[in-house]
Amino acid sequence: MQKLIKNGSIFLFIFIFLFLINRYRNYSLSLMPKEYKLVKKIFDKFSLNNDLGNRPVSIIIRAGEDMHYLMVDTGICKDKKNICFYFENLDPFKKYRGYRSRDVNYAIKQSYLHGHANASAYPTGTILINRSTFRVLEGKENFIAAAIAHEMFHIIQFAPFEASFKALKSWQDNPNKTDEAINEVFLNEKQIIESEADLGGALILLQADYPKDTFLKAMEYFYKQYGIIHTKGQSKRHPDYITRINLIRAFMNDASFIKKELKNNSSPLTWRYNRRENWLKFYPSKN
Ligand SMILES: [Zn+2]
Repeated sequence: MQKLIKNGSIFLFIFIFLFLINRYRNYSLSLMPKEYKLVKKIFDKFSLNNDLGNRPVSIIIRAGEDMHYLMVDTGICKDKKNICFYFENLDPFKKYRGYRSRDVNYAIKQSYLHGHANASAYPTGTILINRSTFRVLEGKENFIAAAIAHEMFHIIQFAPFEASFKALKSWQDNPNKTDEAINEVFLNEKQIIESEADLGGALILLQADYPKDTFLKAMEYFYKQYGIIHTKGQSKRHPDYITRINLIRAFMNDASFIKKELKNNSSPLTWRYNRRENWLKFYPSKN
């Protein structure tokens, strides 16, 4: 009987031990992939002299946009008109175990090796970053910070709400307007929001002690790594390259572009990570 209790307690001890190791591995900030560690480092730096708002922000490093084309190529994503979001959003740090997993896993690898640097933000307080961003911008931490600052500003803006609001108003003012005309209003307003995020992002970097021209240099580099920048589709979602660069340069050359010490900064950020669900999240402090 005593032996049974002894064996039982050893078994229980091992079980608890393994459970704790598993838990630690899942939530530990020190065991995160290096990409997440870099994102955390950048946001901690931002928070020292920026107001990052009053809601939690989640960062998700995902397989990325190349997955759309790769999944259409393989025939796994059959809807050619819409974006294959499910596959773009896959966790790049983990093996996919679903339908045609061999092909999907190979595509995740290709997406990392061939993909561009890109990130996007959602009004829900979520920033998505293609994992390939960290490969393309390897050794260029300041440029990754610039991309993140731009997306963080979109979170503060609740983008694209303002653009959509103005499109709705223009529709109400003129109910006979065609869908195309309303969409045109939306896209024009969205371009203004994009420029605001550039200037807001440049300011976040300046406030966080990055060299003054970091955002401008980063923007030039982002377009260079794309290579093709003249197509009309690209210029609809964002202002075209020349307009964008000129606006940033004018903003930086203005006398008001100077660092100010901010008392109500968001530091220290409280961080949470979940490896299984593939997200990193911070809660700004309310100073
Ligand atoms: Zn943007």
